[in-house]
Amino acid sequence: MIEIYKKLPGTNCGKCGEPTCMAFALKVKNAQRKMSDCPYVTEADEGSFSQKPTVTMDDNYERVSNKLEEEVRNTNFKEAAIAIGGHYEIKNGGEIVRFKMMNKTYEVRKEGLFENNKYCHDSWSKIIVYDYVRRKGTRPLTGDWVTLGHFPDTASHVKAFQSKAEDKVAESFNKNMDGMKLRCKELRGSEESGKVKADYVCRFDLLPRIPLYLCFWEADEEFQASCKLFLDSSADVYIDIEYLAYLVERFVELFVK
Ligand code: SF4
Repeated sequence: MIEIYKKLPGTNCGKCGEPTCMAFALKVKNAQRKMSDCPYVTEADEGSFSQKPTVTMDDNYERVSNKLEEEVRNTNFKEAAIAIGGHYEIKNGGEIVRFKMMNKTYEVRKEGLFENNKYCHDSWSKIIVYDYVRRKGTRPLTGDWVTLGHFPDTASHVKAFQSKAEDKVAESFNKNMDGMKLRCKELRGSEESGKVKADYVCRFDLLPRIPLYLCFWEADEEFQASCKLFLDSSADVYIDIEYLAYLVERFVELFVK
């Protein structure tokens, strides 16, 4: 970790989304981040480390998804389906829980995660879905809208979330309110009003019990457009917040495509 740290500027600027260069170095060592995530790392320095890790980020994700798959196998599917807003049934003699994630239908079976009757190999989809099922969200949604920073231990994610999600939406639809509304419609969002005073508010159900509220303020002569994303204050009961932040980022990638 120290060898990695020595290649970093040591300014703790936070642009990589970590609070300090040391925290970043630790994550690179654990193959949770890449050297290139720090914008100040030169190609030569990046290369000097790229050969060394024996465990890659993909290996890590696969390991976590396999561990969660084991856990989900022992979860009571009937209880889980009720708690997370899924549909339970017996299909070909086996139990399944079916629900939508970002408008795509998934089936959790004792054998794993399936999409269109095919085993899903995407580690991140598996991690998110399995975590959502195994937690069996123990509290109803509160209806209170909060930002990511509301949840404990999220300080290091807030900056990255802002640049990878909120700023991305604002920049992509700056002076293009009609395009933004159209995209919301295409992704089956439903217009909301009330809680936050914004020029446009739209709700998306990323998972049946994970609503996302997109609030958008149009550009004017003085300011660029801006966007804020809100979650229900019970979201952390349904899914690990780090996974949720990633799910929102995936949604935004799709949204701005
Ligand atoms: S981006 Fe991260 S690792 Fe790079 S200098 Fe800033 S805090 Fe340190």
